[in-house]
Amino acid sequence: MVIHLNEKLCVGCQLCLEVCPTGCFEFDEQAKKARLILPLSCLDCKACELNCEGNAIKIEKSLFQNFFAQLI
Ligand code: SF4
Ligand code: SF4
Repeated sequence: MVIHLNEKLCVGCQLCLEVCPTGCFEFDEQAKKARLILPLSCLDCKACELNCEGNAIKIEKSLFQNFFAQLI
C-alpha cells in the first residue's frame, strides 16, 4: 500500500501517532504537523486514515497490488 499524507490538510491533532500500531508517524513540533517516517512498517490497518481530523491521510493500494488484484 501507499500512504499519502497531505501536510497542508494536517491540523496537528496527533491522532495518527496515537492509533498507528507500528509508529509510522512522528510529530514535527516546529511545523505542528505529522510526518510519515516509516512507511514500510505500515500494516494497512487504515486506523490513521479513519481517525485523521484533517482528512489528510489516504491509504491506497500500490500499483503492484492493483496489478495482482487484476490477475486473481
Ligand atoms: S494504515 Fe495502520 S499501520 Fe499503516 S500508517 Fe496507518 S495506522 Fe499505521
Ligand atoms: S491525524 Fe491527520 S490531522 Fe491529525 S496529526 Fe495526523 S495527519 Fe495531521
